[in-house]
Amino acid sequence: MWFSTLLPFVTLALTFTSSASAQDFDIGELERKPLVTSAALQRRIHRDNLLRHARNFQHFAEQTSKTTPNRAFGSVGHNSTVRYIKKLLDATKFYDTQLQTFPYTYAEASSNFTANGVILPTKSLFYGISGDVTAPLFATGNLGCVPEHFPASVEGKLVLIQRGDCIYGIKVALAGAAKAAGVIIFNDVPAELSGGSLGGVSRPEGPYVPVGTISGTAGLDLQARLAAGEEITGVLKAYGLVEERYSSNLIATSKQGNKNQIVFSGSHSDSVPGGPGINDDGSGTMGNLETALQLTNFRLNNAVRFGWWTAEEFGLVGSTHHIRNLPQSERDKIALYLNFDMIASPNSGFFIYDGDGDTFQRPGPPGSAQIEKLYEDYYKAKGLISRPSNFTGRSDYGPFLEVGIPCGGVFTGHEGVKTDEGVQWWGGQAGVVYDPCYHARCDTYENLRVETFETNVKAIAHSIAVYSMSLETIPFPRAASSISSRSADEKLHVETLTYEERRHYGCDHAHEVSWQ
Ligand SMILES: [Zn+2]
Repeated sequence: MWFSTLLPFVTLALTFTSSASAQDFDIGELERKPLVTSAALQRRIHRDNLLRHARNFQHFAEQTSKTTPNRAFGSVGHNSTVRYIKKLLDATKFYDTQLQTFPYTYAEASSNFTANGVILPTKSLFYGISGDVTAPLFATGNLGCVPEHFPASVEGKLVLIQRGDCIYGIKVALAGAAKAAGVIIFNDVPAELSGGSLGGVSRPEGPYVPVGTISGTAGLDLQARLAAGEEITGVLKAYGLVEERYSSNLIATSKQGNKNQIVFSGSHSDSVPGGPGINDDGSGTMGNLETALQLTNFRLNNAVRFGWWTAEEFGLVGSTHHIRNLPQSERDKIALYLNFDMIASPNSGFFIYDGDGDTFQRPGPPGSAQIEKLYEDYYKAKGLISRPSNFTGRSDYGPFLEVGIPCGGVFTGHEGVKTDEGVQWWGGQAGVVYDPCYHARCDTYENLRVETFETNVKAIAHSIAVYSMSLETIPFPRAASSISSRSADEKLHVETLTYEERRHYGCDHAHEVSWQ
């Protein structure tokens, strides 16, 4: 996996600048093209093309794994996705394309556990090691935070330990030092643990052994049965992987148009490890791709740049890397940033990022309100109802917001539950989340709501055409006061998060990260 994913990208990384050189760009041909307009660009957006991309993305996900198709960053399927986009764009000779390749730590973990043949819902911990353990269950009756908590009799046993007092990593390493076969940690409240981490790839206290976590209720039940003398055989199957992976952002900038007034549109090219991510964010990725391809039929006033970000699902890694490495003088040329992350949810609504902050009191930088208005007017003109969506910072617009670039975009919902009112506005099912396949294996080709998808890609086309024609509604160049006062070395907010916090930040779930 390591070499097969790394090698193609080392080769590609050598051709860091565009493979289509400036010489094969025919200025005469370009001058005969009409100036882009919203109506003309929208007319060129067809669902057939979008669905052809979607079928290809599904195929790429299956290249990674037949059992759990995915396009997680640096996987075969993700690299295929990035190559596919680059190849199609390079063939047009309309763009300068650039791969921004860098390493980042990839980790995944899963566990399952049975006690005397009964399956108990089990979660895994990051940095946990792989292993199959069948052994008698042994309750320490303590919190497993010092070596004395592990009597010699734990050797070869599956040790049951309650959460608390010290971090998970210490419990697991001390159990390893005492030659336990594995560890089951149970919550200190009745609920299941929401996932967590051992805090690092290794610890000084001892070697890690396979680990899984179960609910407080299940743990106390097992502990009581063991205390009553019952013999319980536990079977723990744990899987853990940690590796450095190389992957790439793909940046494409139109060769034509004013490059001091760049209209920037982005989406993330990776999926979560647990599913193919055809809506999240295949939909935004394909929307930007198809718009970029159709844009080549036109002449532009302002240059248009597209970004396909890697490792968004691990905490906005690619977009943060890009902004962090972009000199202030280059940031200043970006007039605005548009983000499209999930635009075809099966139980969709039409949401627009709340640029003016009137609903969620978190306005974007000056210009963001105008972008929100542009999309409001777009839906209104089509007789569609839209609602604002909170600018949480939890997609790739986050790093752009942080450096004072106005942002906007549309979104069709993920974990929120559709209300009766929502059904009146947008159809679909009440009491059901906008995307029941969010971050799941079923986020396949079939998960797309096609009509919504097409409408929203036309929204992308509309905004790009309007802003490429004119930035009159956007305050630009930005006043120095609206530009972030951060010094060049000051880290972006997301970058200061730990690996675990960051990974959670990207996934946008409400639950917290736990180390202990
Ligand atoms: Zn996403």
